[in-house]
Amino acid sequence: MRIILLGPPGVGKGTQASLIAKGFNIPKISTGDMLRDAIAKGSAIGKKVHDIMERGDYVSEEIIEELITKRLKSGDCKEGYLFDGFPRTMSQIKFLEKNDIHIDYVIEIKVPEEEIISRLSGRRIHIKSGRVYHIKNNPPKVDGIDDITKEPLTHRNDDKPETIKTRLTVYKQQTEPLVDYYKQQHAMNTLTYFTVDGNQDTEAVYKDIEHRLKARNKTNTSYL
Ligand code: AMP
Repeated sequence: MRIILLGPPGVGKGTQASLIAKGFNIPKISTGDMLRDAIAKGSAIGKKVHDIMERGDYVSEEIIEELITKRLKSGDCKEGYLFDGFPRTMSQIKFLEKNDIHIDYVIEIKVPEEEIISRLSGRRIHIKSGRVYHIKNNPPKVDGIDDITKEPLTHRNDDKPETIKTRLTVYKQQTEPLVDYYKQQHAMNTLTYFTVDGNQDTEAVYKDIEHRLKARNKTNTSYL
């Protein structure tokens, strides 16, 4: 099963990606997590992308292709995987097609913009695992500390108000057009595209996704 999770920053893609990965026993492939990890390690890629990510812009296609190509070679990707935050541009879709990577499901998570801004500004993350918390809605047991590793949590620089605006604009310009593309693919029965209301609690969102994925009803053409 190959899945893409689509939606602007702050709709809960990372959280849902972790739940789907666990529930369906497939790896979560998050380009954002991989890039943050590269920055934390001080690698060559990390140095190249640091400023771009802080501004809220997209990093180059070349870098994303390199990360994805390397990651898909791992043995754990044989039975499928879940992309979180990839593809984000038409050119990244073309890259998948060029490499004969067939996607089964595209899930778009929808949340109103005011809610997105509140979620992103209160978000705290554990960089190594990609675990996501929110200071009010989903606080860690100890303030500022990851529940599992007990390591400190980070307030991403790109989750600060000025950058949130840029990220939402970049999403609208570069990634939103992908939705239409996937709706067309759905209509042609190439894959299944569906939307989920992300403005519910984490468990309810996951239940909706799980239900749709388990139904595996490829003949159903309604996606709303
Ligand atoms: P995310 O954690 O998915 O919100 O990603 C954080 C940042 O990483 C984005 O704002 C981009 O700067 C960069 N990034 C992650 N994935 C991609 C991608 N597929 N294409 C371009 N830039 C990306």
